[in-house]
Amino acid sequence: MRHDQQRPLDHSHPQWRDWRWQMRHRIHSVDTLAQWIQLTDAERQAIEATQGIFRWNITPYYASLMDPEDPNCPIRRQVVPRLEELAPDLIDSLDPLEEVAHSPVKNLIHNYRDRVAFCVTSECAIYCRYCLRKRMVGDAAFMMRKAELEAAISYIAAHPEIRDVLLTGGDPLTLSEAHLAWILERLRAIPHVEIIRIGTRMPVKLPYRITPELCALLERFHPLWINTHFNHPKELTPDAAEAVDRLLRAGIPVGNQTVLLRGINDDIDTMKALCEGLVRIRVRPYYLYQAQLIGGTAHFRTPIETGMALMRALQGNTTGFAIPKYVLDTPYGKVPLDGTYVKGRSGDYVIVETPRGVLWAEPNPIPPGETLSFRLPEIPWPEGVATLPLATS
Ligand SMILES: *Cc1c(COP(=O)(O)O)cnc(C)c1O
Ligand code: SF4
Repeated sequence: MRHDQQRPLDHSHPQWRDWRWQMRHRIHSVDTLAQWIQLTDAERQAIEATQGIFRWNITPYYASLMDPEDPNCPIRRQVVPRLEELAPDLIDSLDPLEEVAHSPVKNLIHNYRDRVAFCVTSECAIYCRYCLRKRMVGDAAFMMRKAELEAAISYIAAHPEIRDVLLTGGDPLTLSEAHLAWILERLRAIPHVEIIRIGTRMPVKLPYRITPELCALLERFHPLWINTHFNHPKELTPDAAEAVDRLLRAGIPVGNQTVLLRGINDDIDTMKALCEGLVRIRVRPYYLYQAQLIGGTAHFRTPIETGMALMRALQGNTTGFAIPKYVLDTPYGKVPLDGTYVKGRSGDYVIVETPRGVLWAEPNPIPPGETLSFRLPEIPWPEGVATLPLATS
């Protein structure tokens, strides 16, 4: 038996810092995971019961951040399947933002006039249980063949209004250097593409992916920006800080998008520690996302008032640029969740006016027994408001 099948791998393994080795040794069996943490019966059942619904995979690096004893560990809850994923949800949509409808060609989402989100791969190093792109990550049908990448790049080339291209997925940095270089060269050959952005969770789940070679490649394509995705202060490790430092030294500004997750980062101490920890490693908090209505993620969602209360508590109590913008994404674009756009609550819905002037009702019931420190005014259901169809009605 190989050494690494007998006991958990650890930082002393000679290849620990080799990202390809980490990818090859990702944990995706109960037996291997049980070497890292004391799995509860519920977790074992959940792994079994969610097979075939949504893949799971954990890098040894990310597994090393998990608390072996605490099933509510914020790292563990992000990546280990839970039975709650099978509970009936408000809606059963896997595409609440209607991204498919906004895709003129496969995997290219054109929902804002001047910028596109380009899902260059459906692969990820780990599969976050609340993932917005659950419908595609890990699914071979969403893999991009070369001709499909060509079609997306041709679309961008044919639309001079597109000045900002966001590479996303999946995680674009799961691609090889050669593959990335090919995409970036093709995009840079388009004169109207002013900035290129990459959305990647690699600094969080596999910081060793940020190699000097990768940074040397990326820096050829400036102006290039990166947004990463830290959710909890436990993720701010020295290895993550080093990965970020390598990106910054290559002249790449690094921002952060957090998802507001119930029981993980929805209290002021955790959120403040996260934001302040980010600026200590020179990462600028960018967005705090309200968790989307992706089927099977109800247990992660908070009332919108919880996020608004967090924003009120941060304002004036920490460095101004440590405060992200709290946003709700809708099929009509992102809406900042502040008083300018949030009209009030109508029962189980929060009513917002999108910057495009569309009234949107976000299904957002307050869980029974929840105490809120901040309340939205109750308003009548407005006429002509758009919303998502609920699963049960
Ligand atoms: C979020 C998003 C973008 C980028 O929006 P910014 O507010 O500029 O960061 C682009 N396209 C889509 C489809 C998005 O969801
Ligand atoms: S890293 Fe991003 S794309 Fe990948 S599973 Fe997590 S949330 Fe989804």
